[in-house]
This record gives sequence, structure tokens and C-alpha cells, in this order.
Amino acid sequence: MMNQKLIAQRLQDPRAKLVAVTKKHTAQEVDELYALGVRTFGENRVQEFLSKYNPDYDWHIIGHLQTNKVKYIIGKVSLIESVDSLKLAQEIEKQAAKHGLVQDILVEIKVSQQDENKTGLPIAELDDLLAEIAKMEHLRLKGLMTIASNTDDQDLIASEFDQAKALYDQACQLYPTMDTLSMGMSHDYELAIEHGSNQVRIGTALFEAE
Ligand SMILES: *Cc1c(COP(=O)(O)O)cnc(C)c1O
Repeated sequence: MMNQKLIAQRLQDPRAKLVAVTKKHTAQEVDELYALGVRTFGENRVQEFLSKYNPDYDWHIIGHLQTNKVKYIIGKVSLIESVDSLKLAQEIEKQAAKHGLVQDILVEIKVSQQDENKTGLPIAELDDLLAEIAKMEHLRLKGLMTIASNTDDQDLIASEFDQAKALYDQACQLYPTMDTLSMGMSHDYELAIEHGSNQVRIGTALFEAE
């Protein structure tokens, strides 16, 4: 079951690129999305990604990435959205150098105050990490990614998106390779776009009936 209306609407919205999150869905469902015009797919686990990997499609890694898994994905993903530590950036740099390529990355920042939302770099550490990444020859800094609090409180979510947008705008002044602010999922992508997102990562809603 695909929500064709939503897919068409997202593909036509020039404000934000659609990354279809296909975790827990089959390679066949990925093919079905491709047939509907979707070109970029997001996976959060390396093992699952490799089981579905099709080199004809464009793939992003969006979930927490362990350093020892980087070697399995390098050369296969156009964007690693979830760089959240210097150690991980250094490992991607090393593997990218080995493959003779430049890997596009986003830094995932933690704007949510919720304890259960543990992923992402604390924003106090952002400036230092960006400066380190900028020195790495085989990394290209494309922007920031974030996940807002999982809540019904729209004002709270909006304030988190605003915070990410402000950090993104600041960083863009220093790092001209940046052009991507990845925020917004099934339940909050509209709010995310209103608050400055230009890339949404939507999973669940794509597979729900219209
Ligand atoms: C699963 C996931 C999404 C998509 O979430 P939905 O609520 O299914 O749209 C987006 N980003 C990340 C990092 C995810 O792990």
C-alpha cells in the first residue's frame, strides 16, 4: 500500500527534497516507490541497507552509524546524514580516502530536550566539529540534520526547528558547501518545511492508505 497522493505531492514541492525512508520495507517496495518517481531512499541500519542496496538508486544513511560499519557503505551512499562525532567523521575520511572519493555528509545535531531522543551532537560541540570536518579532504560538508521531539506540542517542535535553522544559517556563512537542512518526518514534515527545512525524511506516511 502506497500513499500515491502524498508521494506525488512531495515530489512536486520545490521547497524540500523527498528522502523516502524504507527501513522495515522490502526491496520490492523500494522498486515500487522508484516506479512512482522517488529517486532517493534513506535507511538507518547498515545491515538492512546492504540487503536492499541497488546501485541504480540514490541512497542516504540516516541512522546512527558505528565507526566499524563505515567501510561497508562507503562508495554506496551519496549522503551520510548522521555524522555525530569526530571519531565517526575521521573514520569516514579514512575510508573515503582509501576509495579515492569525497563523501558528502550532514552533521546530525540534537535540538530535542527529550531524554529518549539521544541521537545527535550536542549543539555546544557543533562549531568545533564543523571546523574539524572542514579540514578533511575527503569529506564535503553539505549541511545539518536533526530530529525534533516526538510530541504533540507543535510550539516545542517549531522552536526546535527554528533553532536548527538558525545554526544552519550561521554555519552556511562559514562553509559555502552547505546547502541541505534535513528535518521533518511523517508527523512533522509540514511544520519542518515552514520552519526552513529543504529536505524531509518520510517513512511511515508513504506506506499508509490515502
Ligand atoms: C525512521 C526515520 C525517519 C522516518 O520516520 P517516519 O516517522 O516513519 O516518517 C526519519 N529520520 C530518521 C533518522 C529515521 O530513523
